[in-house]
Amino acid sequence: MTPEDAAEVIRQQFSGEFLEFCKDCFHDRPQKLTAKRWDSTCSADAAHTWDPVLVHHLSEKSRKHVYSQVRPLQQNCKFTYCSHVQQGKPCWHEAGHCQSAQSEVEMAVWKAEHSGMSVRPHLLQMSRRDQTEHRKVTMYCKICLLVLSSPESFYKHCSSLEHAQLLSVDTTARWKGRQPPHNHRSELWLCDRPQTCEYGNKCPKAHSVEELQEWFMRAEEEKEIRHNIGVQGLMCYSERLLEEYKHSSNEVHVVSTRL
Ligand SMILES: [Zn+2]
Ligand SMILES: [Zn+2]
Ligand SMILES: [Zn+2]
Ligand SMILES: [Zn+2]
Ligand SMILES: [Zn+2]
Repeated sequence: MTPEDAAEVIRQQFSGEFLEFCKDCFHDRPQKLTAKRWDSTCSADAAHTWDPVLVHHLSEKSRKHVYSQVRPLQQNCKFTYCSHVQQGKPCWHEAGHCQSAQSEVEMAVWKAEHSGMSVRPHLLQMSRRDQTEHRKVTMYCKICLLVLSSPESFYKHCSSLEHAQLLSVDTTARWKGRQPPHNHRSELWLCDRPQTCEYGNKCPKAHSVEELQEWFMRAEEEKEIRHNIGVQGLMCYSERLLEEYKHSSNEVHVVSTRL
């Protein structure tokens, strides 16, 4: 088997395309997808000297886009998957600290490379033949898998309900009860009269000891997610969201029960 053959196998196994984006822009906060310009710089205003990362692009139902970097194979790679990715979430590990594969494509490329096949140039070459246009600078939300055309639309997106919900609801599927009104553990209370409470489902206090216990656990988990998001430089957005969320908790609750 030649590297070309190995690349062809990978390409047939995974639909989508392989692209190169500016490394600095790709690791920027927020993440940018920036192609190469004619003068060997990236096409962002910063005009970084061209140093690309290999990225696999898959678009699902035209609106959602999955951009997963195929990072270089590490020397003592264990060929395991990232624990977050295994749960269907984006990797929230500290940048550069996640040694595990973050996608099946990455795993396939690593395995090919491990067996001595230098597949990257061939994957790129094959994709170039049938490539869609990627000339503009775009911003990418890895939580919602959305591509946004400007920083303005990115910030707008980050304050959208859809993004806020995905960000917080993502990891909370296992919870049974209502959403807590906020994430301040010390300010979560038990309702005085859960049986006759006029607020019903909208009551900001827990209606049972079980519900209060769950709210405490959720508050802890939120803290952990916030920490991980912070590590990836998205804290300012999530902070803002959590502030908004706190102030509009009833609104959010009403919407989420309607879904
Ligand atoms: Zn750049
Ligand atoms: Zn990871
Ligand atoms: Zn988003
Ligand atoms: Zn109540
Ligand atoms: Zn940590």
